[in-house]
Amino acid sequence: MKFRSIKGTHDILPGEVHRWQFAEEAVRSAMHSFNYLEIRTPAFEETALFSRSIGELTDIVGKEMYTFADRSGTSLTLKPEMTASVIRAYIQNNLGEQQPLVKVYYIAPMFRQERPQAGRLRQFHQFGAEAIGSAGPAVDAEIIALSARVYESLGLRNFAVRINSVGCRECRPAYRKLLTGYLRERRDQLSEESLRRLEQNPLRILDSKDEGDRRATKDAPLMIEHLGPECSGHFEGLKSMLSAAGVTYEIDGRIVRGLDYYTKTAFEITSSDLGSQDALAGGGRYDLLVKDLGGKDTPAVGFAAGMERLLMAMEKQPHDANEPPHPTVFIASADEKARELVASLVLKLRSKGLATESDLLGRSLKSQLREANRQNSDRLIVIGSEEIEKNRVTVRGLLSKDEFSIPLDRVADELPSRLKEK
Ligand code: AMP
Repeated sequence: MKFRSIKGTHDILPGEVHRWQFAEEAVRSAMHSFNYLEIRTPAFEETALFSRSIGELTDIVGKEMYTFADRSGTSLTLKPEMTASVIRAYIQNNLGEQQPLVKVYYIAPMFRQERPQAGRLRQFHQFGAEAIGSAGPAVDAEIIALSARVYESLGLRNFAVRINSVGCRECRPAYRKLLTGYLRERRDQLSEESLRRLEQNPLRILDSKDEGDRRATKDAPLMIEHLGPECSGHFEGLKSMLSAAGVTYEIDGRIVRGLDYYTKTAFEITSSDLGSQDALAGGGRYDLLVKDLGGKDTPAVGFAAGMERLLMAMEKQPHDANEPPHPTVFIASADEKARELVASLVLKLRSKGLATESDLLGRSLKSQLREANRQNSDRLIVIGSEEIEKNRVTVRGLLSKDEFSIPLDRVADELPSRLKEK
């Protein structure tokens, strides 16, 4: 029987994992410079946590969650996004009591049973951040600047930050009524999907990709034109803070985000290098969620970004991230007698932190040298009876072509510092 990975899931193979690590390092470094600390939560949660927070009417909860009953009959779900889990952890561990503004980030796998297509996976990875505890637009601006910083720090140029405000419980109901009225008059032009959304989630129709929907909503009223005074003031504050922070942005009144819990700020970062699934990241403010999930009334804002999309965008632009790790030193055995000595020397060098490799397959000297080259080792040492007898080895540069010699019994002590000098 042959096994294959599940549709929509991928192996990240040894030959490519360095690219992930490089991108993850850039994420961690941006998060660190903005003073966000990492949080790690379990891969699965009670199903109700997600259905309650993300909303029963969203695609994620309606059709994409990996939900299963455990042996006790409890309904569990593999996390389709991180915000709900972070807020659950925030409430459960009283994080808000320890400090007034909690700033956390994550890099983790997410699971959604999407229709497999380019750029849409069933297990994918997100990095993101949440700032819990402040209502003012300064934190929204920080979150947007932070997400843009990651792409900037990796040298990506073709990305755009688009912002919107989706209002709040005060001003959204009246706008929603207005929009529903407008859309009802154009029922016959709407796609089936949008007709289904019309009564329950009409705002989502505004970001539909369907041609007919686009035509029907061309002149539709937008939330941003109907914000109440508080939301409007917040949005103005956000814009001026983004400008002050040097973040280039566009205003896009059609950004609604898929999830129910957003209030005020909603934003997206898209890349023109990605084709039809062009979203690199999305986020916004969710002032109602902490209370909805049983915590104190606490405002919050955050973003989530796709790792796979980031890596795809990085592929489109030349940069020096792509050199895979390789051994610093390869020690070859010229004859059988040398093998034991080589093995113990390799261990000594490794314990000093030097990436060291030798042959474990009993290969001939010639094919050991070929292997050292194939692995891109920086240096090569060959040890045989002659080297043992004279107590002297030559350390040859494979790429640099420089060489020097040192006593065999001093290699473990001297080589690490000699190579550091180079
Ligand atoms: P969302 O949580 O849906 O707002 O997604 C945030 C980001 O995660 C998106 O902008 C994408 O970059 C990425 N993303 C979402 N869903 C998928 C998926 N099924 N496959 C790959 N990346 C995804």
